[in-house]
This record gives sequence, structure tokens and C-alpha cells, in this order.
Amino acid sequence: MSTIEKNIAKVAARIREAAQAVHRDAATVGLLAVSKTQPAAAIREAFAAGLRDFGENYLQEALDKQVELDDLPLIWHFIGPIQSNKTKAIAEHFDWVHSVDRLKIAQRLSDQRPATLPPLNVCLQVNLSGEASKSGCTPQELGPLAEAVAAMPQLRLRGLMCIPAPTEDPAEQRAAFARLRLLRDELALDLDTLSMGMSQDLEAAIAEGATWVRIGTALFGARDYGRPQ
Ligand SMILES: *Cc1c(COP(=O)(O)O)cnc(C)c1O
Repeated sequence: MSTIEKNIAKVAARIREAAQAVHRDAATVGLLAVSKTQPAAAIREAFAAGLRDFGENYLQEALDKQVELDDLPLIWHFIGPIQSNKTKAIAEHFDWVHSVDRLKIAQRLSDQRPATLPPLNVCLQVNLSGEASKSGCTPQELGPLAEAVAAMPQLRLRGLMCIPAPTEDPAEQRAAFARLRLLRDELALDLDTLSMGMSQDLEAAIAEGATWVRIGTALFGARDYGRPQ
């Protein structure tokens, strides 16, 4: 087995155990492989080992890899901060966007989504901590934003996403993910997705209802930030 195959098996086992611990069906937890800074060859290997969904943060890097991997039926998720001048390419080249946090970006994505493609699956990113991350709408902004996005014709609002302040304390991890679940439940919308949990805290996220865990390091190893992004 290659390192990536071994890592996928380990992550799958962690997901299974975490789901079992709270009597969830592990099949309801999607594994999103976060492939930012990783070469196309690593994605090809992960695909061969059974993964289909890949998350990218940097548009140009993602587009380059999509060209290289054109022969594979991959599902692409954009999970990074979004600038206005990037919305057109994101609307054209991705299946999901997890990081929508303001109306203007949502409107552009809907307007620019080609009519030939199904509506773009969207999660709204919520900033739970107020300071750890600058991305994400506030919990106060969420209600009106969700209502507006749910009405956009070329977007399909699926749920919420968060990146909580890092902590090693499982109770604190769960508390943050529980807040996102509660915010989702409070919206009077039919939302089936909670995108939460990364390499360090996927167990806590699954305990609180994650339907996508976004895993980079535990699958591909440490990222080389020296690489141009
Ligand atoms: C990089 C990244 C991840 C993956 O983080 P790991 O700790 O490497 O698993 C998940 N979500 C987002 C939004 C990221 O930017």
C-alpha cells in the first residue's frame, strides 16, 4: 500500500469509529480530500484508492490541476476565501462552494453559473469565534443571507461550514460544532449539510453531525507552503 492508501484507510477508520460512537451511519459522513498545495499525482492516487471529492483553496492552482486531471470524474469543491474577480471561474469549474459568506459573492456565483450546469451546491461559512478567522459571516448575518441565497436560481443552498479556532480540547471542539448545528437547525430551510471537521477534530465534528469532513494533512501529509500558490 502507498502512503496515501494507508492514510485513507486510517481516516476511514477514524470516521467509522467516530460515527459508531454516536450511533450514526458512517455513510452519512462524506470525506472531502483537501488537496491544496498537493500535486495532481497525489489526487490521481487518492482517486485510484476510491476518493472522488476534492477541496481546493486557491483558484489558479485548482484550475491547473483540473486540466491535468481532466480524464477523471472528480467532484470539485472550492473551500477558500472568494474574491469578486474569481467568482466566474469558480461558478464554471466547481460543483460545490463551501465558503460563501456574503451576498455579493453569492449573487455573482448565481449570475455566472452556466445554464448548462446544475445549480452550484453552496454552503455558507459562519465565523463562530469572531476573531480567529476573518472569513465567514457572523451568526447575526446568517439568517438574511441564507434566505437570499436560498432564493437564487443557480445556487442550491445545502448548509453551513465553519473553521473554528483550533483547540486540543475535545469539549471545546464539540461546543463550536454544536453551535453550527444549532444555527443550521434554527434556519427555517431544508439544509442537509454541515461541512465541519478537519484532520485534528473530525471526531468532534462527526459527534455533532458533520456531513462533510474536510481532511488535508491526515491524507496527504504536511503541506509545503514554500510552493507558489
Ligand atoms: C486546509 C483546509 C482544510 C484541511 O485542513 P487539515 O488540517 O490539513 O486537515 C480544511 N478546510 C479548509 C477550509 C482548509 O483551508
